[in-house]
Amino acid sequence: MTRGRFAPSPTGRLHFGSLVAALGSWLFARHADGRWIVRMEDLDREREVQGAAERILATLDAFGLVSDEDIVYQSRRSDRYAAALARLERDGHAYRCWCSRTDLEPRGGIHPSECVAQPGERAPAWRLRVRDHVLAFDDAIQGPQQQDLAREVGDFVIWRADGACAYQLAVVVDDAAQEIDQVVRGADLLDSTPRQILLQRLLGLPQPAYAHLPLALGTDGRKLSKHAASLPVDARDPLPALRAALHFLGQRAPTERNVHMLLSRASRELATASIPRAAAVPVAFAAARNATS
Ligand code: GLU
Repeated sequence: MTRGRFAPSPTGRLHFGSLVAALGSWLFARHADGRWIVRMEDLDREREVQGAAERILATLDAFGLVSDEDIVYQSRRSDRYAAALARLERDGHAYRCWCSRTDLEPRGGIHPSECVAQPGERAPAWRLRVRDHVLAFDDAIQGPQQQDLAREVGDFVIWRADGACAYQLAVVVDDAAQEIDQVVRGADLLDSTPRQILLQRLLGLPQPAYAHLPLALGTDGRKLSKHAASLPVDARDPLPALRAALHFLGQRAPTERNVHMLLSRASRELATASIPRAAAVPVAFAAARNATS
């Protein structure tokens, strides 16, 4: 049975962009008669907003998007991530590094494959040694993708100097532990995918299918400003936002006035071939939200 997921970070309220990711992943999972699971990615204590996790879950609830299994909180799973790091270190794929962003600036932010800083008082980060060059995969929406990991990314951080597991490693460990075989998320994460596939290979984990949902564009076709994309959705009035999100995904919005009926019809009728690679946020929706924000 297909297993999809939505993995929000509790850094604020659910906004239009994250509603699209939640809805898109739900539609894909349900269209395949599969399960849909919510995972709270709360590893970054500095960016976390108090109460945001509960609020996101309550908003999802109002939108009829309810996890089929208990919510997994990444902050409670450090042991699993530490075990993955230990395995990567044992196999010679991970090393300690004291380089700061400033150390990497002269190199365009790309790590030179060895630590160039002096081991100091502060704790090191852990980096993954990137030996593969071009990594390719097929995305169900964005088409064939490839990235020269060594040249475009370099050795990347898998465990942060502040002691938290980095997103790239945690997401790979959890997708595998939760047996996720379908990752549907925003196209802002498209360029993280080769790093995650490399980690899956090194850890001997299965590779899920990937579908990256359209990036939000302004009506002028340019990338939408962070501000407009981050307008919160209104949990008291879910239908207009749900319809706008379906429209954004290139789907015909059913006329049902009940959230659950609308969702169930939309999932049956999901036409994945109609999902655009990039799309404009519906003007009426953006304008309405602007007026109330
Ligand atoms: N937690 C990530 C975010 O909110 C998403 C991770 C994922 O879907 O892989 O951007």
